[in-house]
Amino acid sequence: MIRVGVNGYGTIGKRVADAIGAQPDMTLTGVAKTQPNYEAEAAVRKGYPLYAAIPERSDRFAEAGIDLAGEVEDLIIASDVIVDATPSGIGEANCELYRQYETPAILQGGEDADAVDASFVARANYDDAIDADVVRVVSCNTTGLSRLLAPLQETYGVEKARVTLIRRGGDPGQVDRGPINDILPDPITVPSHHGPDVNTIYPDVNIDTLGVKVPATLMHLHSVNITLESEPSAAEVRELLSAESRLFLVPQEAGIDGTGKLKEFAMDTGRPRGDLWENCIWADSISTDGRDLYLFQSIHQEADVVPENIDAIRAITDRESQADSMAITDDRLGVGLESLFEGIRQRVVPHSADD
Ligand code: NAD
Repeated sequence: MIRVGVNGYGTIGKRVADAIGAQPDMTLTGVAKTQPNYEAEAAVRKGYPLYAAIPERSDRFAEAGIDLAGEVEDLIIASDVIVDATPSGIGEANCELYRQYETPAILQGGEDADAVDASFVARANYDDAIDADVVRVVSCNTTGLSRLLAPLQETYGVEKARVTLIRRGGDPGQVDRGPINDILPDPITVPSHHGPDVNTIYPDVNIDTLGVKVPATLMHLHSVNITLESEPSAAEVRELLSAESRLFLVPQEAGIDGTGKLKEFAMDTGRPRGDLWENCIWADSISTDGRDLYLFQSIHQEADVVPENIDAIRAITDRESQADSMAITDDRLGVGLESLFEGIRQRVVPHSADD
């Protein structure tokens, strides 16, 4: 069993902690919190051992009646791997502590690529993380773009990608991002940081990205134009993409016409927190004009990096091959939404730890 601790139990950390619990080869050693808030309460209710992320604040937990299992250094000692899901910049600062205990660590997309041994997207460059000390699971948008580019690059070759990212203004709980009522070119300069970030995964892909922020919390929407090196039909591209477990082709007949209904669908199917781990590509948006491919895809910012963190844990400890790790992760979480009206429905929700 790989013993995994989660330092930073917010939007990403709590999802990764639950996903670790669903894996047959991992055990969650505990989660580290800075304060005894509602998320600490939820962690306690789930039975997760709770550690003080900032030792000087341990008293606050005692005052709130919450028993701690220890301090963050105890969590590191008890773990084979740490997933650090703290806010941007803190993960990099925490690396000193992880290195001190020779504990491999997985950071998140808010950290600098220069701070880590490898940036990571399971479908694209799993092997780069094998036996590394510190790996960065790239941001939700970079993960979504890399997953899409992987099969296109392998099958047709990518001459040039141009993507406009219409980005949610904040996560549902991020009150400090609002109230908002505007549409912002963000950044105003071109390219946005997303294209260069994709190049940490695919150094040779020619990609330009533009960012726009809108007053929404549910998901991002990518407007994609890729000039391929060959000339497949739209039907061929649809077939290629639908074979990828982490790409969900949303069929026209489903009546899902936006991110609101996508999230509603996720909740209706019993997905925890209404999470969509897959890129959601509108099947009918996939169009070709010569070598130019066009499509729209939506990315659930809170969720798509979760399976990637699980695969990064196996890669950094060199436990499974890329294909085996992705298959285990997909099976245990229920990743792999398929066209809604074809074939036998497979499981789309996580196994429990006891399954
Ligand atoms: P968050 O603010 O929801 O959660 C961070 C948690 O870390 C909070 O509970 C906070 O109290 C805690 N924390 C703060 N300082 C800490 C410390 N010193 N030690 C331990 N815990 C500490 O943030 P998030 O959205 O989960 O983002 C975490 C990382 O994931 C960032 O790098 C971010 O860029 C990346 N990421 C976020 C999203 C997203 O949409 N939310 C998507 C992909 C990647």
